[in-house]
Amino acid sequence: MDLSTLNVDTAREAVQLRKTTAMALVESFYEKIQKEDGLIGAYLTLCKERAMAQADRMDRMAAEGKTLPPLGGVPVAVKDVMCTAEVRTTAGSKVLGNFIPPYDSTAVARLEAAGAIVLGKLNCDEFAMGSSNENSAFHPVRNPRDPSRVPGGSSGGSAAAVAADMAVVTLGSDTGGSIRQPASFCGVVGMMPTYGRVSRYGLIAFASSLDHIGPFARNVKDAATVLRTIAGRDPMDATSADIPVPDYVAELDKPVRGLRVGMAKEYFGDGLDTEVRSAVEAAIQKLAQVGCEVIPVSLPHTEYAIPTYYIVATAEASSNLARYDGVRYGYRAKNLRTLSDMYRRTRDEGFGAEVKRRIMLGTYVLSAGYYDAYYLKAQKVRTLLTRDFEEAFQKVDAIVTPTSPTAAFKLGEKANDPLAMYLADIYTVTADLAGIPGISVPCGETREKLPIGLQILGRHFDEATVLRLAHAHQQSARAA
Ligand code: GLN
Repeated sequence: MDLSTLNVDTAREAVQLRKTTAMALVESFYEKIQKEDGLIGAYLTLCKERAMAQADRMDRMAAEGKTLPPLGGVPVAVKDVMCTAEVRTTAGSKVLGNFIPPYDSTAVARLEAAGAIVLGKLNCDEFAMGSSNENSAFHPVRNPRDPSRVPGGSSGGSAAAVAADMAVVTLGSDTGGSIRQPASFCGVVGMMPTYGRVSRYGLIAFASSLDHIGPFARNVKDAATVLRTIAGRDPMDATSADIPVPDYVAELDKPVRGLRVGMAKEYFGDGLDTEVRSAVEAAIQKLAQVGCEVIPVSLPHTEYAIPTYYIVATAEASSNLARYDGVRYGYRAKNLRTLSDMYRRTRDEGFGAEVKRRIMLGTYVLSAGYYDAYYLKAQKVRTLLTRDFEEAFQKVDAIVTPTSPTAAFKLGEKANDPLAMYLADIYTVTADLAGIPGISVPCGETREKLPIGLQILGRHFDEATVLRLAHAHQQSARAA
């Protein structure tokens, strides 16, 4: 079976109609992983027993002539920041290197309840902090399109696994761009839903007011199917929204004619690579050709987004990561003499350099004397950034931008320059701060054949319009 052409519908149908078994399908994916993941490094842990048990359930259903659920028999994988019962969950960190959760995150539980088969856990930057996957405590991930380049981050494994046909769809998390940017770098679709749309129960926290779970897929329809499966109120997460989840798939083919699409000048300024610019502009032109009205808009506070994000995110991270102290779970340093020795050495040995940098930054901006100047100020600017979007969305139904100012860069290129790395998030952090949904969909490639991503942002809880526009883009790109 050709794994590269499989999508949710074809995989499910093959199992339903007994053209193959879910077991055989899962075996082919493990063979592919065995053969090719040595180079790519997308997986941290495989959970073959769990996968085979689920495959067996799906095969029995199919054999009994029962209709499979929406993801029945579909091989998937999840970023290693989502808890999986009895399966090691590391968040890409040594501090959780031996952590076996006793429960499943809601997103994973919902995927499995819909018949999906979880193959394993995917590599990522430590605690999802990074834009290149080079901050994983285990090993970096390489971009399947060019292994000398990064896959993006922090959900690098999630993007690479889909791009390298090592899973049909995957889950990632996005705090400042970590779904959309790697999707763009690897040439796949990545969707961040509205804050609160998908439960964060069982997601290892980085910055709780910014963390979102969402899908990676080869096409927009698969992303819509997965999102619909995992979305919706969950009593285990008080921030999950009690707002009905539309049938995203059914809405995909509604015409986009007449939709107003905003182009924000702040996203087309200095620092935008010329090849990325022309690919994105061409994609916007195509949307105009299918009847969208392209309208200039302004998001005037955009220039403050990066500093605002890196204050809010590090502040929340410093608090969330206080729990890794060697007492309850995870890594504990050896040969300890005192309690304080245990805290210090566990954290010193357990965390990598970037995580320590963020904990220090976050502790600093929250400390008495600096709180008002940094944290409180950042919260105010966050409100202004959100208002920018609210005002723009009075005039338009969606906003289109590049996902990242450049295509994938080389491994090591920015690893020693944290500021340059942070600037790579310039077009993605704004949506996380505002809590609005966004997608990255492939829209061309550079002369060096590196993928380029088009970002589409929408109103709060209006994932349907975002997906519909992305689908229209994909259809027009296919027709061309
Ligand atoms: N690159 C950003 C960071 O390092 C975003 C990470 C993310 O979205 N998890 O914080």
